[in-house]
Amino acid sequence: MIDCLFPPVQDRLLFEDRLTRLLLSVSQRLPDSSVAPTLDMERFRIELAAFAFEESETLDTAAQWVVRQMEDGLVHVNHPRYFGLFNPTPTFPAQMADRIVAAFNPQLATATTSPVAVAIENHVIQAFARRIGLPEPAQGHFTTGGSEANYTAVIMALTQSCPNFATEGARAFLGAPVFYVSQDSHLAWIKIAHQAGIGRRAARLVPTDGDGQMDMAALMSTIHDDLENGCVPFMIVATAGTTNAGMIDPLYACSELAKGLGLWFHVDAAWGGGLIAHDELCVRLAGIETADSITIDGHKWFAATMGCGIFLTTRPQVLSEAFQVAAYFMPSSNPTVVDPYVSSVQWSRRFLGLRLFLSLAVAGWAGYGHHVEQTLVMGNLFVNKITNCGWTMVNDSPVGVTCIVPPDPASSVRAIVNHVVAAGQAWVSVATFEGREVIRVCVTSGMTTPQDVDDLVAALQTAVQSTGA
Ligand SMILES: *Cc1c(COP(=O)(O)O)cnc(C)c1O
Repeated sequence: MIDCLFPPVQDRLLFEDRLTRLLLSVSQRLPDSSVAPTLDMERFRIELAAFAFEESETLDTAAQWVVRQMEDGLVHVNHPRYFGLFNPTPTFPAQMADRIVAAFNPQLATATTSPVAVAIENHVIQAFARRIGLPEPAQGHFTTGGSEANYTAVIMALTQSCPNFATEGARAFLGAPVFYVSQDSHLAWIKIAHQAGIGRRAARLVPTDGDGQMDMAALMSTIHDDLENGCVPFMIVATAGTTNAGMIDPLYACSELAKGLGLWFHVDAAWGGGLIAHDELCVRLAGIETADSITIDGHKWFAATMGCGIFLTTRPQVLSEAFQVAAYFMPSSNPTVVDPYVSSVQWSRRFLGLRLFLSLAVAGWAGYGHHVEQTLVMGNLFVNKITNCGWTMVNDSPVGVTCIVPPDPASSVRAIVNHVVAAGQAWVSVATFEGREVIRVCVTSGMTTPQDVDDLVAALQTAVQSTGA
């Protein structure tokens, strides 16, 4: 046995104890540290290069070195003043789940090898489906993120649309298969179209209506033109919470249009799906329950650790058609449980669902609803304060994404954002809303306080003055 790889129990205790304390001290320092990296990358690269793997370090030394580099060498998405893209401070139960999973390292490809883990994941998936109000039988699974869930939807929709797609691929279609997303949807759709073998142009980017939502007239005319030109529409995607501006496409209208034309209807609620946890705010997602399939990211508003998406569908039959294989070496025997490896993109699979199971077990839907509401309250506080300083909010997001422009239209949005980020006090980003450069602010952390909001306002005001138009 190689001791450094499989150390004896007393050494493990020592390492784990030290690591726990080290990580706790880092997290305690976090609120007073820079959100953006401050590391001297040149010094870091030299030290990194010294790990030539010819000599050995102790685990303690190596792990401590890594933690020190990470403390200064990352944009801290778990910082209370990270007002950025949808990467929240992970919940503590989710972090605990990762430790538990790492210890057992269960293989979730089949229910035969990991009956308890597969059942726990299914339990969470069914809880999500019921919460949304999906008609039975709904099914789903955990994915590495929203992109994989959206990719799953494309494969299902293609499989459903053309009986020979499974065996012959895209050439089985009588014309070029095409699907519809708004131009403000997530760019991953372009990659997904490429991966699915239907080509990037298959992702039709439909113009928005001036308020960041899919323009229904433009959608209809694009479909009309495609049909005229012999293309084969197979899916309409509504985004519930666009990345740039947190806008929600008209869900019912998209759904009705899709159903009328016999197209698959997918809702990409990677971030916005968090609203389902709130008893009242969930109405903002009305129409999501009519979807053939849904993407919700566990690692976004639900604040699971990174790499945790959820895919849901009301068409379990199509899910099996899309992902089934008969593998003689797989220990599948239980006919009552669908094995994950024959109903999803992945094969060997990590126990991702435990992060949400533990978080939901301690917080319940009510606790998560509260979390969602609290981030929105902090977001509204920010809007009030910054508009009082003369800034303008240009969007009206139901999911807490604020796009603002400074009082003086001649100021450079980019220069302001660079200044804020470089100062390290807070993290915000540049986005485009309806063709205009804006500053995008989203309260993602469940640990953001009114003081953090004040600090952000101050950082933005200072940046305006120092970058002066
Ligand atoms: C984040 C996001 C994605 C991509 O999800 P990943 O988890 O990053 O793979 C897709 N769509 C929307 C609307 C998103 O917000």
